[in-house]
Amino acid sequence: MAGSGKFFVGGNWKCNGTKDSVSKLVSELNAATLESDVVTFVAPSTTGSLQTRRWLDHSLPDVVVAPPFIYIDQVKNSLTDRIELSAQNVWVGKGGAYTGEISAEQLVDIGCKWVILGHSERRNIIGEDDDFIGKKAAYALSQNVKVIACIGELLEEREAGKTFDVCFRQMKAYADNITNWTDVVIAYEPVWAIGTGKVASPEQAQEVHAAIRDWLKTNVSPDVASSIRIIYGGSVNAGNCADLAKKEDIDGFLVGGASLKGPDFATIVNSVT
Ligand code: PGA
Repeated sequence: MAGSGKFFVGGNWKCNGTKDSVSKLVSELNAATLESDVVTFVAPSTTGSLQTRRWLDHSLPDVVVAPPFIYIDQVKNSLTDRIELSAQNVWVGKGGAYTGEISAEQLVDIGCKWVILGHSERRNIIGEDDDFIGKKAAYALSQNVKVIACIGELLEEREAGKTFDVCFRQMKAYADNITNWTDVVIAYEPVWAIGTGKVASPEQAQEVHAAIRDWLKTNVSPDVASSIRIIYGGSVNAGNCADLAKKEDIDGFLVGGASLKGPDFATIVNSVT
């Protein structure tokens, strides 16, 4: 792990769920042991025997789930506050006459601290472009909504040797709009790995994460490059997370399908090394 040293795991529930299934998932998450919350130390007692004490360290790691908008309030009212809430999208500016949109101010109003932006499904299915996404990021940050900024190449772009060009172009659109990176986490999600079961190898992911960090060093600042979290997304599951988490520049995960199962999501959170 590089970045700030604080592992980050986000669960992207996408357009899934009903009131009942959301309630079941929240119960599973509330019951899960997030091992890395628990710091154990051993100290001699006054009688000379060793005592073990454990306490919750809420500084480790960041755990966030992103339900569909319509269930955020239900989740907020029932989920342990160990896990923070994210939206999956937000409007590009102040609210008003924008039918069907949700503003950053409204996210703040209901206690939703994060938003996922630039997800490949919004880029490639809905048609959001780089600049629009960059502007959304800037506005959300201006309202104190933290941003999970997604980037990633299509299969044909990887096969044409354009992975870095695409990722750097998407990064530039964020960099053209963002002035303070403190509340930004970058999610590298190769599109060919999302929902396909074809996870990037730890080496493939590490190579791109290191290149993004390098790009930030040259184009934003060495401080931002060394402190920002770069997380990986794309078919992460309870079985492959540990090997990915060992890589130097992988600071956590953005998880889709496997985040819909509480115990699997907990295993991924606990893969922090
Ligand atoms: P997946 O989705 O884990 O189901 O591949 C990841 C994502 O879209 O964030």
